[in-house]
Amino acid sequence: MSNMRQDHNEIEKLASSVTAWNVQFQKELSERPVGILGEPELPNVPLVEKGQGSEAAFADFLEHIAPYLSGAAGPRYLGFVTGGTTPAALLADWIVSATDQNVASAGDSISTAVELQALEWLCELFDLPKDFDGIITTGATASNVLGALCARQYAGDQQGLDIARDGVSGADIDVFAATPHASMKKAMGFAGLGREQIKQVACLEGSEAMDVSDLALLLKNSNSAGKIVIASAGTVTGTDFDDLQAISALCKKHKAWLHVDGAFGLFTRTIKEKQHLTAGIEYADSITADGHKWLNVPYDCGMFFTRHVGLLQTACSVAAPYLDVGSSTPSFMDRGIENSRRFRALPVWMTLKAYGIEGYRKLIEDNCRHAKNLADWIEKSEDYELLTPCKMNVVVFKPAGARDEEVSQKLNQINQSEKTYMTPGVWQGESGIRAAFSNWSTTDVDLAIICDVLKQA
Ligand SMILES: *Cc1c(COP(=O)(O)O)cnc(C)c1O
Repeated sequence: MSNMRQDHNEIEKLASSVTAWNVQFQKELSERPVGILGEPELPNVPLVEKGQGSEAAFADFLEHIAPYLSGAAGPRYLGFVTGGTTPAALLADWIVSATDQNVASAGDSISTAVELQALEWLCELFDLPKDFDGIITTGATASNVLGALCARQYAGDQQGLDIARDGVSGADIDVFAATPHASMKKAMGFAGLGREQIKQVACLEGSEAMDVSDLALLLKNSNSAGKIVIASAGTVTGTDFDDLQAISALCKKHKAWLHVDGAFGLFTRTIKEKQHLTAGIEYADSITADGHKWLNVPYDCGMFFTRHVGLLQTACSVAAPYLDVGSSTPSFMDRGIENSRRFRALPVWMTLKAYGIEGYRKLIEDNCRHAKNLADWIEKSEDYELLTPCKMNVVVFKPAGARDEEVSQKLNQINQSEKTYMTPGVWQGESGIRAAFSNWSTTDVDLAIICDVLKQA
């Protein structure tokens, strides 16, 4: 009997040892070293000719890999913008692997219907108008790529070109942005519009938000037949929001496509007092949000919304007769990058079902409160100073009066505590330490531990 068949026959025994390990990992998550420093390595061994089956492979995992997995999904990991995973999303993700559905086209499973419902629920969570539709992606980068592809298709339409069909070379397109995320520049490269071809719009004084009067001038002076504006709803360092009301009005006037990158900022729409930050987003042509950040579903997951799903389908359609199964339900392979697609919708569906709008509102509020409390602590401390006031879930600070190299030394010291993990940030050209709260399980006790680490360092 083959190893594979034998493993499958013993799946119950194998699964229970893996489940036991996963459960233990969950229980100990908040006690694990938050970041594993020093780039651990695997023994340098060649691929085996004859495998020994799952039990032996799992034993190797336990010895060589398990001890070096970080507690990044736990409550005190503050690097980048890193969500954990809610219990419901974690459980759903196990089901995703076990059932191995391919959400490419409808017709052989309910999985497409689940993704459609998950998208509807996300629009409700974000209070987006009913005319938004979209797709679940692998993350905000992929969503930004779809934004660039739709925008480019639209700009081509305006000059009688079908860019998906004929290519981008004959098109005349201007792209404007103030503080685009690095992944947006990457997306511009993918779309053939050029990483370095974004026309820089000025920022407001002391902010990463767009100076709308500068955009107005640039749009007025642009002679391009196609225009694209990339706006931010929550920049990664300053958590600044572009004025979408004013920007969308300008885009309407100049027939420009408006793409909004709201990877984590879009979640502020769950909170009434913060909804003014994204006022006007209902007029956007496309919107990016992340799943593995503030939605706290496992990697990898993002969302893309657009009011022009037909255009998305023109940009992404897969023309192959054998793929046409004659269903009236949309085929998600015609809306995104991949043909074959993981059932990412299930963790989204299950976590929204389990915790609802209220659960997410509380998660966002708690994380913003933790960030505010850390910022207040830093302001009072003699050892540290804030580089910019905390407005949302991100705190940017440095040791009081420190030079750049002292900042990175201090960051190392903090991370060596293994009790928390932070990443570097730059605010208005000045080096700092960045702490971003985006995990459902962070508590006031965790905040006290974090402040203690800062004090000890
Ligand atoms: C994180 C982030 C991205 C990239 O997201 P990934 O999920 O890492 O692909 C894009 N834009 C913004 C504003 C982000 O915060």
